Amino acid sequence: MIPSPFDYAAPTTVAQALDLLADAGDDVKVLAGGQSLIPVMKLRMADPTMVVDLGRISELTGVTDDGDSLLIGAMTPHHVIAKDLLIATYAPLLAQAAATVADPQVRHRGTLGGALVHADPAGDMPAPVLALDATLVVAGPHGERSIAAADFFQGYFTTAVQEGEILTHIRIPKYVGWGSHYEKFTRVAQQWSIVAVAAMVRVEGGAIAAARIGLTNMASTPLRARGVEAALAGCALEADAIATACAQAADGTEPASDLNGDAAYRRHLSQVLTKRAVLSAAGL
Ligand SMILES: Cc1cc2nc3c(=O)[nH]c(=O)nc-3n(C[C@H](O)[C@H](O)[C@H](O)COP(=O)(O)OP(=O)(O)OC[C@H]3O[C@@H](n4cnc5c(N)ncnc54)[C@H](O)[C@@H]3O)c2cc1C
Repeated sequence: MIPSPFDYAAPTTVAQALDLLADAGDDVKVLAGGQSLIPVMKLRMADPTMVVDLGRISELTGVTDDGDSLLIGAMTPHHVIAKDLLIATYAPLLAQAAATVADPQVRHRGTLGGALVHADPAGDMPAPVLALDATLVVAGPHGERSIAAADFFQGYFTTAVQEGEILTHIRIPKYVGWGSHYEKFTRVAQQWSIVAVAAMVRVEGGAIAAARIGLTNMASTPLRARGVEAALAGCALEADAIATACAQAADGTEPASDLNGDAAYRRHLSQVLTKRAVLSAAGL
């Protein structure tokens, strides 16, 4: 199918984009890489009368060293996230997850901001952003606001970004002395996650001092596996002890059942993948 007719604008600044959104009213959509929006428009599941393309706003693309944190423009494509030197140094978890998204074509068009605002439960970027304790910067008619990743994802395909707002940047604290790993389970190559686990681990004196675990596709939003994180704090660097802690990975989750696997299978996967991710992040 082809989309319904729509007006198109390609502003060159965030301020212009916000004015266009304010003028257009309810039936407007922001276009980033188009890898989710265009298919949805072709199926006429979204029918905007106006599309505001962020692709010409240079201030929204790139990775900047901002003191204690990295500032990533929302329009930065997945393939840049996967290869950027600053991200490789201070947040390699994000790079590893971005490299698992779809295929090279999708990674060249799709953006970090688009993937986060789209908020597909099976999407690979939200769980790492949650595990990294990122802050999401949103611009709107009343100025700028910062939203903790823990408050950003609100339900199936639903985030804290309101009508008339644009996600402009993702701020990620610099991590030094942490190991990380993104463990993604699919049936075939280049597939969406059936379940995936984003693990951050800091090792001190032969034990795990701290851990942060994000789960992909274990509920309508990405989740932190808080029980596992608590059990891993102080845990000896031994495979059996880590496996025991990771057995709590499915606690508090509400995975869906679909053709790729039922909820019980996903719960089992979450335990297995969390163990693998933590072992790898801890260097075992
Ligand atoms: C064949 C295929 C396979 C894929 N496989 C995977 C996969 O394995 N893993 C995975 O994670 N993803 C996968 N994706 C999705 C891909 O990651 C997309 O890039 C992503 O979901 C959307 O990013 P986008 O930049 O294309 O956003 P768009 O499609 O342009 O936009 C998506 C939504 O977000 C809104 N939006 C976008 N940017 C902003 C912003 N800055 N501020 C406010 N609203 C905004 C749009 O209005 C729209 O509602 C796949 C896509 C395709 C086509």
